[in-house]
Amino acid sequence: MSGPFHQTGGWIEVVAGVMFSGKSEELIRRVRRAMIAKKKVQVFKSHLDARYAGLYKVSSHDGRTVEAVPADSAAQISQQINPQANVIAIDEAQFLDDGIVELVTSLAARGRRVILAGTDTDFRGEPFGPMPQLMAIAEVVDKLHAICVLCGGPASRNQRLIGGKPAPYNSPQVMVGGTEAYEARCRMCHEVPASDAGQVTLFRNTA
Ligand code: ADP
Ligand code: ZN
Repeated sequence: MSGPFHQTGGWIEVVAGVMFSGKSEELIRRVRRAMIAKKKVQVFKSHLDARYAGLYKVSSHDGRTVEAVPADSAAQISQQINPQANVIAIDEAQFLDDGIVELVTSLAARGRRVILAGTDTDFRGEPFGPMPQLMAIAEVVDKLHAICVLCGGPASRNQRLIGGKPAPYNSPQVMVGGTEAYEARCRMCHEVPASDAGQVTLFRNTA
């Protein structure tokens, strides 16, 4: 996957896809292999997602972990980078600000291998945070799929549920949660109601 880039100095890899598609598993796999290759690896993870093993680990849904430095912003990552690190891995990249694009570009230009994992679309099926730019500037992009919980096909959408019902389009973009709040679904099974019932009524009344 990253083989052809070994001679070129630094490069950027993005592991994109919906929740449950195996992004964290893949990031952990790449980090472990880099460690076996005796590279100095540093892993960062957004503060927002502390669901599984606390703030200092990247965990996959199957429970595997690697240690991670928590960071809320590109500036926080930049301040904590170890100059000796050959490989920088960043999980939950969708929650970071646009400064991450410039930061990883400069890391790659300085010979670092950068691995970013993130959800490329939000619960509406729209591009999430800096993921589109990161996918565009990366040398290697892998888009993973989960299994649609309704039809068993390849899932490419995050279905947000509120009280067991599909969340309306106007609910906030960031709402951290696990299986109680999100399901993996395919395009056909993904549901995003235009608005909740109250607001549709309000709209009709004022029209
Ligand atoms: P991500 O980081 O993309 O959210 P993880 O690496 O944390 O994904 O978890 C992937 C694992 O989640 C799978 O190997 C599988 O064990 C589990 N899983 C749970 N629900 C699903 C689903 N609907 N489709 C695929 N895998 C699922
Ligand atoms: Zn489906």
